[in-house]
Amino acid sequence: MTQTKYIRTCSIWRALEVVGDKPILLLLESYWLGTRRFSDFQRQTSLLKSVISNRLQKLVDAGCFQKTLYSTKPERYEYRGTEKLLDLYPVALSMFYWEQKWGRVNGKILLSLIHKTCRQQTLPKPVCNGCRVEIDPRDVTWAEGPGVGLMPAVYGRRRRKTRSEKDLITPLFDEIADIIGDRWSALIIRSVFTNLNTYQDICDDTAIATNILAERLERLCTMAIVEKNNGVYKLTPKGRDIYPILIALMEWGDKWYAAPEGPPLLLTHKSCQEPLKHQMACTSCGESVVAQDIEFEFSIQQDHTHAVM
Ligand SMILES: [Zn+2]
Ligand SMILES: [Zn+2]
Repeated sequence: MTQTKYIRTCSIWRALEVVGDKPILLLLESYWLGTRRFSDFQRQTSLLKSVISNRLQKLVDAGCFQKTLYSTKPERYEYRGTEKLLDLYPVALSMFYWEQKWGRVNGKILLSLIHKTCRQQTLPKPVCNGCRVEIDPRDVTWAEGPGVGLMPAVYGRRRRKTRSEKDLITPLFDEIADIIGDRWSALIIRSVFTNLNTYQDICDDTAIATNILAERLERLCTMAIVEKNNGVYKLTPKGRDIYPILIALMEWGDKWYAAPEGPPLLLTHKSCQEPLKHQMACTSCGESVVAQDIEFEFSIQQDHTHAVM
């Protein structure tokens, strides 16, 4: 019998147990673009029926979706986002921001966002709520919070990925979905952010099986997210920009999964000395953006179709 390993309690870890999965990200992406029904999810994502029903159920069980009957004969359901799901919107916007800056360009959906309140085109960026400066990990200090402790590193079982699943295209998030949709990669990056940056440190911090860890580290190097120097892994600028996404995930995890005593980790923004709180700010008017404030238009690069939702 293998011994249970313990790792430090972490809201990012808890959040990734729900969203650190590529089919889930693909379904959420489709949801943000307006999809609500099973058949539409199928058409939009090209995922296998069994995968869709498994992941939608997982999102229902996690309290992110509510199933609502919209037809009785035949019995058909719609999936509506709950408050918990709406709270993931900053995560989605942070991923979108990263993808626009660093992601592959080919065949990507071109999406332009309009901020309804200022009527301007916008690409919301992650800022500190206190001083409105763009979040940079080098400006953040951290301390143990009241919820700090150890938890067993029990990773929820996943089905083995089929080949077609690995090749899935997430048109909006694309490259970032390869990282956030793979909880191992995201957890490795989390470790490096906290200066745990040798192979052994990362191994102890994440309790990831050594063969998976070695493979993911190599992949993150190939993707130019981290670079290895004298046995130490360091984030590149491209990797550093993943930080706000992890912060958004952490806040979501803190809100929905933290222990009653409070969050495990407290972050302070150096420039304003306030507790770091992640906000997505409109690049035109500077105001914080929530889901209801955004309208979008998209077109697909290859065939020049254009649609407004
Ligand atoms: Zn600040
Ligand atoms: Zn605006």
